[in-house]
Amino acid sequence: MVTQQQIWHWLQSVTAVIEENKDYLTELDAAIGDADHGINMSRGFQKVLTQLPSVFDQDIGTIFKTVSMTLISTVGGASGPLYGTLFLKLSAAFAGKWELTDQDMVMFFHAAVDGIVTRGKAQLGDKTMLDALLPASEAFQDAIVEGLTTEKALEVAINAAELGMKNTIPLIAKKGRASYLGERSINHQDPGATSVYLLLLTLGQTLNVSTPMTLTS
Ligand code: ADP
Ligand code: MG
Repeated sequence: MVTQQQIWHWLQSVTAVIEENKDYLTELDAAIGDADHGINMSRGFQKVLTQLPSVFDQDIGTIFKTVSMTLISTVGGASGPLYGTLFLKLSAAFAGKWELTDQDMVMFFHAAVDGIVTRGKAQLGDKTMLDALLPASEAFQDAIVEGLTTEKALEVAINAAELGMKNTIPLIAKKGRASYLGERSINHQDPGATSVYLLLLTLGQTLNVSTPMTLTS
């Protein structure tokens, strides 16, 4: 079970984690994009941090709606609308909810994937956010079906996201700015897959899941 408080604290913690990894995300984007992914994520989540107090006593759907609107209105580039749509799908899935069961958490991952795919039309292997998110979603669902606890399933999902993120290194980008580079996008880790991993890692840390000791940078 994941509570409204935990969701709120997760989103609050994301800002600090993005701040710690801002330069790292920007360096990754410098190699295959326009060197702004860390800046975009930082701008968006700094604004989210200022909005969170206003939804402290609101349901999970309302919290996600606020995050979505904030990201869409403050983050330019591809990642603003992509993460904005992800959180919009989460807000629709959890309207009026104050806690999320294991089945709700399976839906959490499905809705997140749906948001990214609806907005970005990427497929697995296109070297995007989806390459970290989809393996995590599948791993989480499998783990819940096997009867693992939410915490254990999330640990498995985070490991799958990390692997998916690292697996973007040899890929040729097929979507977004990096796709302009064609084969020159090979040998670089995708910035968006990396921020997806960081968000999930932070969720794990909020839920006291045993996660890697250090962050990516
Ligand atoms: P921009 O590319 O506009 O500068 P960012 O640098 O903030 O935006 O984000 C880049 C990231 O967005 C990429 O690393 C990739 O993971 C993700 N991305 C781009 N296009 C898509 C898409 N169509 N579907 C999923 N993710 C995408
Ligand atoms: Mg960029």
